Amino acid sequence: MTVLERKADVGEKLHTTGIIVKDAIDQVALLDGLPAGLVRRINGVRLYAPNLRCVDLTAPGYYFLATDTPQVMRWLAARTEEAGAWIAYQTLFGKAERTESGFDLGEVGTARFLVGADGPHSQVAKTFGLGQSRKFLFGIEHEYAGVEVGEPDKLHCFIDRRLAPGYIGWVVAGVGIVQVGLARRVRPDRFTATEAMSAFLEKIAPIFDFRRMRPASMRAGMIPCGGVVEPVAARRVMLVGDAAGMVSPVTAGGIHTALKHGLAAGYAIADYLSGKRADPSGWFVHSYPRFRAKRLLRFLFDHFQSDVLFDLLLGTKPMRTAASIVYFHHKGAFDPVAPEQEVGAPNKGIQTTR
Ligand SMILES: Cc1cc2nc3c(=O)[nH]c(=O)nc-3n(C[C@H](O)[C@H](O)[C@H](O)COP(=O)(O)OP(=O)(O)OC[C@H]3O[C@@H](n4cnc5c(N)ncnc54)[C@H](O)[C@@H]3O)c2cc1C
Repeated sequence: MTVLERKADVGEKLHTTGIIVKDAIDQVALLDGLPAGLVRRINGVRLYAPNLRCVDLTAPGYYFLATDTPQVMRWLAARTEEAGAWIAYQTLFGKAERTESGFDLGEVGTARFLVGADGPHSQVAKTFGLGQSRKFLFGIEHEYAGVEVGEPDKLHCFIDRRLAPGYIGWVVAGVGIVQVGLARRVRPDRFTATEAMSAFLEKIAPIFDFRRMRPASMRAGMIPCGGVVEPVAARRVMLVGDAAGMVSPVTAGGIHTALKHGLAAGYAIADYLSGKRADPSGWFVHSYPRFRAKRLLRFLFDHFQSDVLFDLLLGTKPMRTAASIVYFHHKGAFDPVAPEQEVGAPNKGIQTTR
């Protein structure tokens, strides 16, 4: 198997926060070997209303892993090569022509099966006239080195319709860095994402003041949020991950689905090429997530997101339940509220370690 990768190093120019949800750890055996030094456990969420009052959410046994994403990507690439694949770095997939038993990729060679795992603007999808995502969030994130934040075992999430319409802003203590970002629906308004980010840093300054700090690096990118594209496959060609639009329309998380369905696609293709099963472009893609309920939630959030309502309802049981379903996928959503989870004003929580 050959992987064409346009970058020289899979850990460079990242466009993800890199948080891995517990479900991915549970379901993707490959992640069992993830070195402990590349991850940091986040045990819950502190959700801030637009007026910055907050509520803590946890679910028994649930956690997220913040990651040293560049190193995790390199670790995954090493596992890929160990499994027998060859990664052709700095090699762009541009075009392919069908042949009797596969594809002619010009200078790159030939292939019997093609998987488009080439992100939200998939060239594979364009080449074969497959579906492409039309609805996006745009995410932008600053990395700060040499700082520590208060409550580092929480993912701090900020609701604000003006700055992050359709999604949230966040602060998370990652591995050796603090990551601060926001994502917002892509639609014409008076803010660019950079301006929204400046306004966000200003807004959260009473809690986390990054205003005088220079980001060590930035991550940014488009996040498909309209669900799986149609068609997602053609004879001997399949899309996976962001190329397939396989991102939760609510949480905007795509790592879990990309890994889970990408791995399963590999097994299905191997079975096909060894004559055990039919072309998986016909049957395997029916296992892709449909996100029906999440697409409805996305519609409601897009059309009815109201700062006043979030300010009023943040601490109420229905709001906690809804937020827990979004963050923890039902787990713990119906548990009694623990006393320490009451709504309150947050404490100031940032220290530099330089
Ligand atoms: C700011 C931001 C924060 C996010 N945070 C999270 C998070 O915390 N947790 C989470 O689960 N999800 C998150 N997501 C979503 C998540 O990052 C994606 O869903 C996930 O990266 C999808 O992986 P992928 O392999 O399908 O696509 P990509 O990560 O886009 O990888 C595609 C690869 O294909 C290569 N490529 C592209 N075109 C070509 C070509 N023509 N030829 C050769 N190579 C090519 C690219 O270089 C790249 O290496 C975030 C997204 C953004 C933008």
